[in-house]
This record gives sequence, C-alpha cells and structure tokens, in this order.
Amino acid sequence: MAALAPAARPARRWTPRRVVATPAALEHPHGRRIVARVEALGIEVERLRANRLTGVRGQTDRETYARAKSTLAIVVSPPARRTLQPIAPSADWRFDLAEGCPAHCQYCYLAGSLTGPPVTRVYADLDGILAGLADYAGRGTVTSRSAARVEEGTTFEASCYTDPLALEHLTGSWRRAVEHFAAWDAPVQLRWTTKYADVDTFVGLPHAGRTRVRFSVNAAPVSERMEGGTATVPDRLAALRRLALDGYPVGLTVAPIIAVPDWRREYGLLLDQVVTAVAGVPELDLTAELITHRFTPGSREVLLGWYPRTRLEMDEATRRRKYGKFGAVKYVYPREVMTELRTWFERELVERVPACRILYWT
Ligand code: SF4
Repeated sequence: MAALAPAARPARRWTPRRVVATPAALEHPHGRRIVARVEALGIEVERLRANRLTGVRGQTDRETYARAKSTLAIVVSPPARRTLQPIAPSADWRFDLAEGCPAHCQYCYLAGSLTGPPVTRVYADLDGILAGLADYAGRGTVTSRSAARVEEGTTFEASCYTDPLALEHLTGSWRRAVEHFAAWDAPVQLRWTTKYADVDTFVGLPHAGRTRVRFSVNAAPVSERMEGGTATVPDRLAALRRLALDGYPVGLTVAPIIAVPDWRREYGLLLDQVVTAVAGVPELDLTAELITHRFTPGSREVLLGWYPRTRLEMDEATRRRKYGKFGAVKYVYPREVMTELRTWFERELVERVPACRILYWT
C-alpha cells in the first residue's frame, strides 16, 4: 500500500515582491536572522526609517489588496499579543508568530478578523514570545480539552492569523518553535494548520512528538477553485505523510466544509486520498477537525471586495443565524444540512480511516 502514496514534489514557495523591516524589528536577533535569510534568497530588504508601515495603499481597493498581499513586513508583535487568549476547541491557548498570509482563499477567515490592508507581518521578537509561553503551561482551559486530549498537555495554537508553512522558508520561526516545545520541561503541545506543503526543514528535526501539524484539506471543487496560491491537496497530503513517517502527530483540518453539488462524492474522493496518504505509516497519530463554512456580515463584505467574481455561496437567506458570546451574528448552514454533513463525515471517516480521531465538529 505504501507504494501507492503520493510522492513528494518540490514545495511551492512564496516570493514577496516587497520586504520591509522596521527599526524596532532590527533590534531583535530574530529580526536580523529573518533579514539575513530573506537576503540570502536574493530578495532586497527595505529598512524603514520609522516603525510605521507605509506605501501599501494603492489608487483602488484592488491595487491595495494586490500590494498588501505581495508585501512582507518584519515587525515587532503588538504588546497585546503577549497576553494569550483561549482558543477552544482547537487548543488551550493561541499565540502568534505572524499575522497575514500570502494565499488567496476566497473564503479566508482572516477577512473578518484582521483590519486594514492584508500585509503579511512576521514577528522579530520570537525569542520573547516563546519565553512568555512558560506562564501558561499547566493552565489548560477545560472547555478546549476532552478526556481524549489530556495526554497532549497544555496545547498552544500557532496559526490563528497566518499560515506557518507559507512563511517558514522566509522566517525559520516555526522550526525554532518546534525545537522550543521539544526541549520544554512540561507536558505541552504546539499545533498549527497549513495549506502549504513545505516540510523539508521539519523532517529530521528533534520534535519529541510535541508538535501536531494539521493539513487543511478540501474537496476538489473547493481546493482547486477557491484556494489560490496554496499547495495542491495531493502535495499537502504527501507532506502529511512525510511528517507522520518522521514521528510527528499529524492532523486533518477539513475546512471549510462546503455543501457543493454532489458533496458526498467529492468529499469521498478526498477521503480516498487521505487513506492512500496514511497507508502503512507505523504508529500513526492522526486527528481530524471538521469545520463547516460560515461567514459574518463583515467577512462577507470584505471577501466580496477582495474577490468580486467569487463563486463562493454567501447567501444569508439560505443560512441559519447563529449568535456568538457577545451577540455577533454568523451565518451557518441550516440544521438539516448540518446534520446530513455531520452524519456523513463522522461515519465515513471512521469507516475509511479508523485510526483517525475526530476532535470536534463545528
Ligand atoms: Fe486565509 Fe488560510 Fe487561505 Fe491563507 S491559507 S488565505 S490564512 S484561508
């Protein structure tokens, strides 16, 4: 069976058109490391005079979007980010090594979360960020951990506002995080989700089984038409296989699950690819997180501005309103559709990939 698994291909890598570094970022060793890394790739780094990023806005919203999406800024993280927030159901705590992503997913969840032009900012104060996590070890938030996850220790999510493998070749940040968690003298787990496949620098790293990399995957009508700039799903699954063979716990983030025409067949074909990708992996530790498509009035407006010709269905009239903790509305699938999707996924995953543990459905 293993011979049928997808072969690894050279990973797709983002080359920013403009890279800038703030003076504050250059005061940090990791900021200087990122600059050296980027320059070694033959990309010029513009040293800004002040800590404010300028020159991103264009004449039109489209131009601003295009400029921002092709800009990498090396900055210091905002002070508020040092106070970690719980991030159930994915993990106990979230922390950030970057904000923004160079890909162009038409449903991107960042659209409703981040404000301003979508520049990718990577954080120079990595050493301080990692050191600050120590205060949170042992402080699991009960809501985010079922009994089945207790052995993971305190979990830290590092991909809330970015895609780590889209940026690792430019920063080296997540590799250092893997090593930091491996050497940590406490039961902890680092987690992130990605739509990229660039795992070369992670294979062979001393990870101590403390990092779970989840690959965000989707049915072909979604991944091929709505996820511009990302790695293909076969490449993501080949990367998952490489990490699993290297002893990493791995995962699938099936998100966003969209009720496309003939969705049972389309998602069935995706699960068939997963079966092939994990075939013959010894001591496979595989989880699944199942997240249905949703949008807010704000994210819908931003996304329609970014992708005016999108074929992504965001019709409030066909959705159910759901209210968050602070009264914010989001639009999810109606109950009948949710039940059909959930029943199908939970049954098919268990049948086709019995080793896979489903962490949650939302
Ligand atoms: Fe947004 Fe994730 Fe796509 Fe990046 S990979 S554009 S963060 S959905």
